[in-house]
Amino acid sequence: MASMKNLRSWMGLCLFWGAAGCGGAELADSAGEPVDDSSLEISAACPRKPLLKSGLHPDASDRLRCIGVSASQISQTIGSAPASAGYHAKDGTANGQPYTAAVDIRTVGRSESQIRTLLSDLGKQGFAAWYRKPGFDGWPSSEAPHIHAVYAGCAMKPELDGQVKDYRAGLNGLASHTRYTFWVAPQAMRDDVYNLWNKHN
Ligand SMILES: [Zn+2]
Repeated sequence: MASMKNLRSWMGLCLFWGAAGCGGAELADSAGEPVDDSSLEISAACPRKPLLKSGLHPDASDRLRCIGVSASQISQTIGSAPASAGYHAKDGTANGQPYTAAVDIRTVGRSESQIRTLLSDLGKQGFAAWYRKPGFDGWPSSEAPHIHAVYAGCAMKPELDGQVKDYRAGLNGLASHTRYTFWVAPQAMRDDVYNLWNKHN
């Protein structure tokens, strides 16, 4: 039930914020739905604010702020770090500003337990997210640890489409597409993220 509430909350947000970053399909889907208290709560908790960091989609920015991610914890939005292989290239424009659905979050100073909690919080807010742990789950031991997340509620490039599909299937979102083991979200959460993506892509 919680997952359905989240879905309705997303729709509620779209109704509340109008056309900003939300597709018409969501408005149509929401027609006739009874008002859910949880959507009011989330609308109040995730107000529209200036971008945490340039290159984020506005909805992704608000939701990251909602779960306590600060600007200084974001290591990449639009960018061309060699390990990213194009995944962080621009996906589109929102409110006249370029964005990518992909965001990297620093993990230095977080325990693995705290990282699992953050992955769960990200999933609840519509992000497909993985902890890139050097030497595990297909992430090279020579690369830096971080969380790679894809905000599912906006248009994105085919490479990120594939990552969201991998997330739903419990895979690592890398070229190897192997099973992800560090922490796998409950299926209902993975389905919610996928359904959000499906409305925007
Ligand atoms: Zn990344």
